[in-house]
Amino acid sequence: MAHTHEHGRDHDHDHDHGAPHRHPPRADHDDRPVSYYQVMTTAVFELLIEKGVVTAAEVRSNIEAMDGRTPEQGARVVARAWSDPAFRGRLLADGTAACQELGIEMGPTRLVVVENTDQVHNLVVCTLCSCYPRMVLGRPPDWYKSRAYRSRAVREPRAVLAEFGTRLGDGVTVRVHDSTADMRYLVLPRRPAGTQGWSEEKLARLVTRDSMIGVAEASEAAAL
Ligand code: FE
Repeated sequence: MAHTHEHGRDHDHDHDHGAPHRHPPRADHDDRPVSYYQVMTTAVFELLIEKGVVTAAEVRSNIEAMDGRTPEQGARVVARAWSDPAFRGRLLADGTAACQELGIEMGPTRLVVVENTDQVHNLVVCTLCSCYPRMVLGRPPDWYKSRAYRSRAVREPRAVLAEFGTRLGDGVTVRVHDSTADMRYLVLPRRPAGTQGWSEEKLARLVTRDSMIGVAEASEAAAL
């Protein structure tokens, strides 16, 4: 079917410009040749449906649920730990069970929660691939999956932290945790000063995704 597209004239942009302009061509995300693993994925998917193991609707709804998870889950866990010392103790002892208390199911993976203090700063990575506490943080950011982050986080964590704007004193020990398929880590950031008496909802707004990965600290500035 013939299709004309007068780029620059037929839709609005959110920036102002006097004359129509061309965007540089950008590849569609599915433009590239199909890879071996994409073929395998499709083959397994089709077989599971053909054999009646799962339905396409079940797969779709699982993907939707996966995409619906956000760092707000993790922020709720952290805010509860800051507000309730008994919960904090249970969270550090068994992250999986403590998350269950808040209605967050970890599935078959074990969640280990590591606590930042004045002496210790924790950083999470998966050097092998992209293991990430998706049940509490949603999908990982692209940089988390990059080769640069995966290798540099263990080799030169302080340099990586500095690039994220996080500078630690010389007296602070940096611990890097390498995630695996069955063990995921979540950082319990330090509670920012001046937040005494804050509600859990208000505290949760200070807890960013990056502070729970450990590349940043929780702060009012970080939450802006
Ligand atoms: Fe991984």
